[in-house]
Amino acid sequence: MTAYSYLTHLECSRCGQAYEAEAVQTVSACCGKPLLARYDLALARGEWERASVAERPATMWRYHELLPARQEADVVSLGEGMTPLLACKRLGRALVGIATRALVKDEGANPTGSFKARGMSAAVSRARALGVKALATPSAGNAAAALAAYAARAGLPATVIMPADAPESAKAQVAVSGADLYLVKGLINDAGAIVAAVKEERGWFDVATLKEPYRAEGKKTMGFELAEQLGWRLPDAIIYPAGGGTGIVGMWKAFEELEALGWIGSKRPKMMIVQAEGCAPLVRAFQEGSETAEPWQGARTLAGGLRVPAAIGDFLILRALRQSGGTSLTVSDAEMLAAAHLLASTEGIFAGLEGAATVAAYGKLLEAGTLKPEDEVVLFNTGNGLLNLDQFPVRAPVLPPGERPQPRRMEDSR
Ligand SMILES: *Cc1c(COP(=O)(O)O)cnc(C)c1O
Ligand SMILES: [Zn+2]
Repeated sequence: MTAYSYLTHLECSRCGQAYEAEAVQTVSACCGKPLLARYDLALARGEWERASVAERPATMWRYHELLPARQEADVVSLGEGMTPLLACKRLGRALVGIATRALVKDEGANPTGSFKARGMSAAVSRARALGVKALATPSAGNAAAALAAYAARAGLPATVIMPADAPESAKAQVAVSGADLYLVKGLINDAGAIVAAVKEERGWFDVATLKEPYRAEGKKTMGFELAEQLGWRLPDAIIYPAGGGTGIVGMWKAFEELEALGWIGSKRPKMMIVQAEGCAPLVRAFQEGSETAEPWQGARTLAGGLRVPAAIGDFLILRALRQSGGTSLTVSDAEMLAAAHLLASTEGIFAGLEGAATVAAYGKLLEAGTLKPEDEVVLFNTGNGLLNLDQFPVRAPVLPPGERPQPRRMEDSR
């Protein structure tokens, strides 16, 4: 007999102080830092068998023992997770001229088109179960789309504040899902300040990333899936496009939990993050050897998910990079765009600029010798290119009816 969830308490990520998990929580009162969910892993190890997972539905909730919902009825799901892990044999040849062992974890296949669905499924499930009556979030776009969808699914009202230049697809997803949408002339941090200023008087629960404990729990399931999809082992390296870095924090935690269960060994992938040249607070801090990251002034990049000037979980991300022997680097918007075209045309995977950044970074790391062709490397495509169609303008010959197209030159038929 296993528990539906082995959740025991929450813990301050800075000092370890324990907090009640059955109450609505935000950040830790002691340090003002993210709270991490803790589980009775020793008990789970004795009761929960790895083999049971394979028979379960293909959503992230197949790992419900290490997720925060107490019972199945609490789960607010749209089928998120268990996204494809695609071996990419042609990509390496296109990047550096030889075959490499790259895999793409295609998070663009999630509901609402990005991996924000995972975090919101966990956060909204838990918030509703704990009696929250209204939800809100600041967002560059994808978190807003996910919140609106999961709030609708949960039957809860939601309010979203996004930068005015957020993608039309995100605005449309929010509006169609019936959430209240406000646009701000500024960045996601400006949106966050507005939510923070009025949430109490409006009775909103703020699900901004790492300012409540459970979005990271949803995102950690990417780490569980990676292990499961590789036959219960981990790759040599992971390249992740970091904004707030929730996915890095979550996956690093997932690997610790899997080892505590005895499902994997102690080997960890090298955790590598890529940020945009125009907004790289974590890369700068990593290169300076700092434990925390100073906010980035004048953030500029077309990749909305990477336009995050300050990350509340900075010290957790930097620690994971260093403990794993990983690294960090930047790429330009032009390199992201070129990489998106390359990934789509060599492998058929239509990534947004954030996911494409991992492809550009992979090319650079191979060229620098930091990664070898034989290293098994997982690139995270965090969002679907369909969410940002304006970034991919199309030019094509227009034919009058009846006119035959000119044959195109076959420049490269690899
Ligand atoms: C939010 C987002 C990111 C950044 O995710 P974090 O885990 O907060 O670093 C990257 N890519 C896309 C498409 C996103 O929506
Ligand atoms: Zn603390």
